[in-house]
Amino acid sequence: MGTVDIAGLTKRFDQSVALHPTDLHVEQGEFLVLVGPSGCGKSTLLRMIAGLEQPSAGRIAIGGRDVTDAAPSDRGVAMVFQSYALYPQMTVAQNIGFPLKVAGVAKAEIATRVAAVAEMLDLVALLDRKPRALSGGQRQRVSIARAIVRRPRVLLLDEPLSNLDTALRARMRHEFARLHQQLGATMIYVTHDQLEAMTLANRIVVMSAGRVEQVGAPIDVYRRPASLAVAAAIGSPGMNLLPVTIVEASDAGARVRLPDGGVVQTDAQVPAAATGATATLGVRPEHLVAAADGPFAGAVELFERLGPLSFAHLGAQGAVGTIVAQLPGDRAVALGETLRFTVAPVDTHLFDGDGRAYPL
Ligand code: ATP
Repeated sequence: MGTVDIAGLTKRFDQSVALHPTDLHVEQGEFLVLVGPSGCGKSTLLRMIAGLEQPSAGRIAIGGRDVTDAAPSDRGVAMVFQSYALYPQMTVAQNIGFPLKVAGVAKAEIATRVAAVAEMLDLVALLDRKPRALSGGQRQRVSIARAIVRRPRVLLLDEPLSNLDTALRARMRHEFARLHQQLGATMIYVTHDQLEAMTLANRIVVMSAGRVEQVGAPIDVYRRPASLAVAAAIGSPGMNLLPVTIVEASDAGARVRLPDGGVVQTDAQVPAAATGATATLGVRPEHLVAAADGPFAGAVELFERLGPLSFAHLGAQGAVGTIVAQLPGDRAVALGETLRFTVAPVDTHLFDGDGRAYPL
C-alpha cells in the first residue's frame, strides 16, 4: 500500500533549518500537492521521502514500513524531476526500461512493460529516438514513463511541468489527472502553479519557512486560509491584504476600519478585548463587487484585460497600498478613473497581529 507517514521529520543544513519537525499522513492513492514560496522546504521534504536527503531527525514510513534508513531503490517510490534527467546516449525505450534492467528484470518482461507505459503516455512512435530528438513535452513524458515503469506505490513529482509552455502544461495537467486514476498510486507533487494545485490535489499542503501552515482540500484552503502565509500562497492574483483597525467586535462579526476611513463588515469572531487593535483584512480580487458607496476606493493605475475578465489595480488612499479588483471582460475602464467596491462579509478574511485567522 502507498500510505506515507511522516513523524517529527526535520532537516537542518549547517545552522539553518530547512524543515522544522513535521507530521503528515498521506492516504493510499491520494494526490497531495505541496505549495509555498521559494525556499520554504517543499523539495527538501520530497527528497527526504525519496531517500535522496537524510533527515536530521524523525521517521518516514511507506506502506506501514519504516524506510527512514532504507536506500531510495528500496522504498517503492519513484521521482520525476523538473530537469527530466534522461540518459542522452540511450533511446527512449532504453531510458524507460533502465530501472527494470538495473533491477534485474528479464528482457522479455522489460519489453512488455516498456510497451505498456509507452502506450499509456503516447510514446510508441518515439521509442527508437534519442532524447535530443524530442520536444520538451515528449522528454517529460519519457521521464514520467521511466518513473512509473516499476509500478511505484508512491510517485514523487518535483515541479514536473515548469519547463513546459502554457498549452503543454495544460495538456500534461490533464494527463496527470488521468494517470493518477489509471495507476491508483499515491502522488506527492510540488508546484508553484495555482491551477495545478487547485485542479489536481485531493489535499493541498501549504508550507512557509520550513513549516506546514495548513493542510486541506483545495477549496478549503482557498476559502478558509488559516494564516496570512496561506492567504498569500493561494490565489492568483493574490489576496488583497489591507491594514485595518477593529472598531467593533460582535457576535454578528467584527467591523473594521480601513486607513482612509471606510468601514467593512466581516464575519470574523473577534473577542471584545481586541476592539481598537490593528489587524489585516484580506479580500480576494474576485470578491470585490462594484458599488457606488463601497468602502474600497481608488484611481485605476493599471488595467489588465485577459479577455473573459480584467484586473484593475487601484492606487488607494492612505496606507492601504494597491488594491486589485477583478472586473468583467467587457467593462470599459479609463486610467485614472476612480472605482469603488464593496465585499460580502462571507468573502472577507481577518488576521490578528500574529497573522492567524480569526475564527468565523
Ligand atoms: P523552491 O520552490 O525554490 O524549489 P523549496 O520550497 O523547494 O524551494 P527547498 O529546496 O526545500 O525549498 O529549500 C529549503 C531551504 O533549505 C532553503 O533555504 C534552501 O536554501 C536550503 N537548502 C536546500 N538544500 C540545501 C543544501 N544542500 N545545503 C544547504 N541549504 C540547503
